[in-house]
Amino acid sequence: MQLPREPYLLTPGPLTTSLATKQAMLRDWGSWDDDFNALTAGVCQRLLQVAHAEERCVCVPLQGSGTYAVEATLATLVPRTGKALVLMNGAYGQRMAKIMHYLERSCVTLNTGDYRPPTPAQVDEILSADPDISHVAVVHCETSSGILNPVEAIAAVTARHGRRLIIDAMSAFGALPLDMRELPCDAVVASTNKCFEGVPGFGFALIDRTALEGCAGHSHSLSLDLYDQWAYMARTGQWRFTPPTHVVAAFAQALDQHAAEGGVGGRLARYTANRDLLVAGMQAMGFRTLLAERWLSPIIVTFHSPGDPRFDFHAFYRLIKDRGFIIYPGKLTAVESFRIGCIGQLFAEQMQGVLTAVREALDAMGIADGAPRPEDLDPGDF
Ligand SMILES: *Cc1c(COP(=O)(O)O)cnc(C)c1O
Repeated sequence: MQLPREPYLLTPGPLTTSLATKQAMLRDWGSWDDDFNALTAGVCQRLLQVAHAEERCVCVPLQGSGTYAVEATLATLVPRTGKALVLMNGAYGQRMAKIMHYLERSCVTLNTGDYRPPTPAQVDEILSADPDISHVAVVHCETSSGILNPVEAIAAVTARHGRRLIIDAMSAFGALPLDMRELPCDAVVASTNKCFEGVPGFGFALIDRTALEGCAGHSHSLSLDLYDQWAYMARTGQWRFTPPTHVVAAFAQALDQHAAEGGVGGRLARYTANRDLLVAGMQAMGFRTLLAERWLSPIIVTFHSPGDPRFDFHAFYRLIKDRGFIIYPGKLTAVESFRIGCIGQLFAEQMQGVLTAVREALDAMGIADGAPRPEDLDPGDF
């Protein structure tokens, strides 16, 4: 089948998927049919395996985008009398705090700004001072800046205090290793359309079975009740309400490809190579990354916008799109930035391609050098 050449998506999802994944959507499935139920069960089992969580956890899928799964996990796991500490260093941490307010559950936050990581010492101090905090919520890769938060260290300090941890691993799971046998946490939440390279349509949570068994009646919402979704699925093999059948079929195919590439290790290697090629090429044109090297994720990279007054993001975006690549705007409050993703069906050829497109876009705008304004660079080493 010959498809017209669409632009490559250098974004954190939805992202560029393989032809095989797209083709897996060319069949219709009955939602109550055994074949479809087996497909769902297989997908859930494979997700548990990716996190080495088969023994301890269950996988509960939920219709909707990733945020639905995050909201459902918080609503199901944090009791109405509970209290969460939400760690925020970007939009997705902020979103979890907003969800807690919508849920009318107690919540305190640690806000470390646009891109500084929360430290275990800060979490230790807050938990020591507040015994009412029952849960800590953290984002693994904060996609707004691309920073990789130190989840293992946060998990250790949370466990030491006897509190429970929920990880939004949306943009990390599938490419960054997570071993639930060793990581003390109650839930890891992710979705189809990030590092597993599926199409958008559902999210899922890997949840400690014992913890979930105690969560009946916590949720304020029927459709977001993961306890109910799990109990129904365990009983019937079916989703409670209309499942995104084609998305599940595409995801099963995407998981085959994930395994064929070498699982988490293989994917991490490709994304890391993409990132290294991208960062080196951008630096050669004068661009600077927002984050110091040790905080850069292989998922998405934030670059400072050029300091040259002729730079205009919309024109830059358009020129790059005309050359077949979609990049992503920045999401920072303080400095001008843009982002380029490394995930999806992207290889060295596409990363070279986007670098050429960036060079040509700068030339078209009359900008010699991508260097940012010196005053926008963060002098602090954190
Ligand atoms: C993508 C993402 C989400 C979910 O976003 P949706 O738009 O609802 O799919 C949540 N957290 C993080 C860290 C993400 O990258």
